[in-house]
Amino acid sequence: MIQVAVNGYGTIGKRVADAVRAQPDMNVLGVAKTRPNFEAQAALDRGYPLYAAVEERADQFDDAGMEIAGPVEALVEAADVVVDATPSGIGAKNKTLYEEYDTPALYQGGEDADVADVSFNARSNYADAVDADHVRVVSCNTTGLSRVIAPLSETYGIEKVRATLVRRGGDPGQTSRGPINDILPNPVTVPSHHGPDVNTIFPDVDVDTLGLKVPATLMHVHSLNVTLETAVDAADVRDLFAGEDRLFLVSDEFDIDGAGKLKEYAHDVGRPRGDLWENCIWEESVSTEGRDLYCFQAIHQESDVVPENVDAIRAVTGAADAEESVETTNDAMGIGL
Ligand code: NAD
Repeated sequence: MIQVAVNGYGTIGKRVADAVRAQPDMNVLGVAKTRPNFEAQAALDRGYPLYAAVEERADQFDDAGMEIAGPVEALVEAADVVVDATPSGIGAKNKTLYEEYDTPALYQGGEDADVADVSFNARSNYADAVDADHVRVVSCNTTGLSRVIAPLSETYGIEKVRATLVRRGGDPGQTSRGPINDILPNPVTVPSHHGPDVNTIFPDVDVDTLGLKVPATLMHVHSLNVTLETAVDAADVRDLFAGEDRLFLVSDEFDIDGAGKLKEYAHDVGRPRGDLWENCIWEESVSTEGRDLYCFQAIHQESDVVPENVDAIRAVTGAADAEESVETTNDAMGIGL
């Protein structure tokens, strides 16, 4: 069993812990939190040993009646791999801790690419992360773009990707984020940082991205235009996408007109926390004009990177090759709508 530590138990960390627990070859050794709150209590209720991320605050857990298993250092030392799911910028600060105990570490997409030796997407560059010590699982948006670019690039070749990313203002629990009533070009400069981030996975793909932020918490929605190297039929692209486990082709019969109904569907099919681990591509939107492909996809920002973290754990520990890992992850989590 691969012994996994999760440092930072928020939106991403708690989902990664549950996905790790579902794997036949992994165990959650413990999770580290900075302070006692509802998530700390939920971690204990789920049976995860709770470690104090900040030693001086360990007493606060005692005061709240929450049992602490030890300091984060002990967790990192004992683990085969640590998943850092702390807020953007904290992962880079934690790097020395992981180096001190010689524990391979995964970082999240909020960190700068140079925190790690490799930026990672299982579908696109799993092999690059095998036996690496520091790997960054790219952001929700970059993950969503990479999953589409990989099959298109392999099958047709890509001349240029243009993507407009309509981004949710914040996650449901992020009460301080916005906008509340506005539509923001964000960043207003073009290209947005997402295009260069895609290039950390596909260095040779020509990609421009534009970003907006809107008053929504549900999902991001991407409007994509990919100029391919050969003319294609939309039906062939739909078949190509249908063959990818982490792409969900939303059929027109489902009558799902937006992110709201997608989330409703996720709850209806019993997904934990209403998560959608797959890119949700509206089948009807997949259209072609000569070499130009167009489509809309929705990306569940809170969860699409979760299976990628699980695969990255197997990559850094050398536990499986890409095909075996992705299949195991998908089976254990129930991925593939
Ligand atoms: P979050 O704020 O929901 O969770 C972070 C957790 O880490 C919180 O519980 C916080 O208390 C804890 N924490 C803070 N400082 C810590 C420290 N020093 N040690 C241990 N724990 C600490 O954040 P999140 O949304 O889960 O984001 C985590 C990372 O994942 C970021 O890099 C983010 O960019 C990336 N990411 C987020 C999303 C998303 O939409 N939420 C999507 C993909 C990637």
